[in-house]
Amino acid sequence: MIMNVLSAAAVVDIAGIGIGPANLSLAALAQPKPGLTATFFERSSEFQWHAGMMVPDAMLQVHYLKDLVSLVDPSNPLSFLAYLAKQKQLLSFINANFDQVLRREFNQYYRWACTQLPNLHFNSEVRSVEFENGLFLLKGDTWVQPARNLVLGTGQQPSIPAFARPHLGDTLFHSSQYMTRKRSLKDKRVVVIGGGQTGAEIIQHLLSDTSALPASVTWVSRRWNFSPLDESPFTNELYTPQYSDHFFAQPEAVRQSLLVEQKLASDGISQSLLQSIYRRLYELKHVLHHPCKVRLLPGRELTAVQQRPHHWSLSLVHGHSHVQEELSADMAVLCTGYAYQMPECLGAIEPRITRRNGEYVFNQDYSVQWDGPQGSAIYVQNAARSQKGIADPNLGLIPWRCANILNSVSGQALYDLDEPDAFVQWGPSAAFDEVSDARFDRLTALAN
Ligand SMILES: Cc1cc2nc3c(=O)[nH]c(=O)nc-3n(C[C@H](O)[C@H](O)[C@H](O)COP(=O)(O)OP(=O)(O)OC[C@H]3O[C@@H](n4cnc5c(N)ncnc54)[C@H](O)[C@@H]3O)c2cc1C
Repeated sequence: MIMNVLSAAAVVDIAGIGIGPANLSLAALAQPKPGLTATFFERSSEFQWHAGMMVPDAMLQVHYLKDLVSLVDPSNPLSFLAYLAKQKQLLSFINANFDQVLRREFNQYYRWACTQLPNLHFNSEVRSVEFENGLFLLKGDTWVQPARNLVLGTGQQPSIPAFARPHLGDTLFHSSQYMTRKRSLKDKRVVVIGGGQTGAEIIQHLLSDTSALPASVTWVSRRWNFSPLDESPFTNELYTPQYSDHFFAQPEAVRQSLLVEQKLASDGISQSLLQSIYRRLYELKHVLHHPCKVRLLPGRELTAVQQRPHHWSLSLVHGHSHVQEELSADMAVLCTGYAYQMPECLGAIEPRITRRNGEYVFNQDYSVQWDGPQGSAIYVQNAARSQKGIADPNLGLIPWRCANILNSVSGQALYDLDEPDAFVQWGPSAAFDEVSDARFDRLTALAN
């Protein structure tokens, strides 16, 4: 939906920069709260969820109930189930009994939600943010929006090794451009760098069409193997508000070591995708006897890229042996992840925001510490992995985070965020034992 933005807009409680799933959830949860005014700005002309990686078979990596709103308010009219009902496809959805939902379908749901919200402005890049007389002033090309609070929902940016950046183009690019850059690869040598979910999705896509297979497909991973995502129930407890709060309360050194231990709880490859790739390899080799050469090279790091007259030369170092290997490629896809970067538009107020080890310092309510007055808060979505835990960049807790932000802005419990005790007791046990002992004494007294 494209909205015209008034050049002299009224002051709002919340101005959001960026409309991805994070700020879309905020808009959806703010809508039923009449006391709050909010408006959101997006530079793209329409909602697109990682369009460059919308490979046809890519699946959502969370349960579909982890939509924009259900976690804090399943009765909100912008839930995924409400979307299915509005499209008259709820029964077919139930009968289809999906294990996972297609990412393309969730994108359609998000786009439908955009049509239900009048306060989203597309084609509206925020060029700068200033702070004057107690108000944030968001400035676009032809408009200014004053706001009491700011919410950054600008997402993460592609992480690309410095040595590869000068070479980026049509045949060497980051995975975020895969769907727009890919072309006929028949008889070409393709190298995919990165052994996470994105690398796996691209490998599956490259191998999917038997009539258009490349001459060779090489998959390089720094990890020692193509490792699965840990989706077991107790690991999924890391994606709960209780664990996020627990993690936030830990000293920095503890948080850092936990993040290392929890790597495969967030960055592994889904089991079903690994299985499907393995089966396809089997089929190509043993059933179709296809000449496409597939090489799997874990335990290697890409260390340099050189342009040759007709191909790329990629230097790898083998982790254990430190042996150097050279690969030739006609096309190379860098599935090297994403990282948070402060949006450029924040330039004028950026020096006023506190940083520790290069990162914003978060408060419990997802505002960041800065030297502005009380009541003028800057909230940041999707930038607190090292302080709030592995769930932060994930879709799962977005509604809970947004409800925290709305409660904080309004100064009221607009959303009930009281949590029951978690199954797992993450903290030390002294207090727990006291409670248990007291409960045990009470039960014994009752029994007697
Ligand atoms: C390919 C891919 C698949 C993923 N799949 C899953 C999944 O299945 N499950 C899961 O839990 N997580 C998934 N994630 C992780 C995460 O959920 C997504 O990255 C999600 O899109 C993050 O939402 P966001 O709103 O924070 O950022 P984004 O979706 O990146 O949106 C940010 C928006 O801000 C806009 N913007 C930036 N600067 C400005 C500006 N100055 N003015 C106006 N607009 C601006 C951008 O154009 C963009 O539209 C996936 C990530 C990727 C990369």
